[in-house]
Amino acid sequence: MGNMALQKDRNGTILFLLLPAGEPGSRSGLGVVSSSADVSKFVAEHCARSDTGYVCLVCGTGFASRVSISVHARDMHVNAGVVYLCPACKKYCNTKNAIKIHISRNHPHMKGVDVNRFARKKQ
Ligand SMILES: [Zn+2]
Ligand SMILES: [Zn+2]
Repeated sequence: MGNMALQKDRNGTILFLLLPAGEPGSRSGLGVVSSSADVSKFVAEHCARSDTGYVCLVCGTGFASRVSISVHARDMHVNAGVVYLCPACKKYCNTKNAIKIHISRNHPHMKGVDVNRFARKKQ
């Protein structure tokens, strides 16, 4: 399975040993974005069932499904301050979905790439 080397540290956190080469002077995307385990932990601690579905206890927003509240938690809370920089046209997107939509509309040849690689900490 490629030459992607994964190794777990003592806490069970997967470390990415083979990071893609970042642009000079900027941090690589991987390591900026939190893992899905972090998102699950956040949802377990800060989201609750409501009459209509789920509610985020941090900001009070309601959601119909667990999937939609997980996306909200990931983009708005866990990865708050992360933006995605399109490598093709240097456009910044605020969420993972936004960069995916941007790429599928504007750069269809890049469809399917791992957009976590485009993540940057907001300055
Ligand atoms: Zn929220
Ligand atoms: Zn673009």
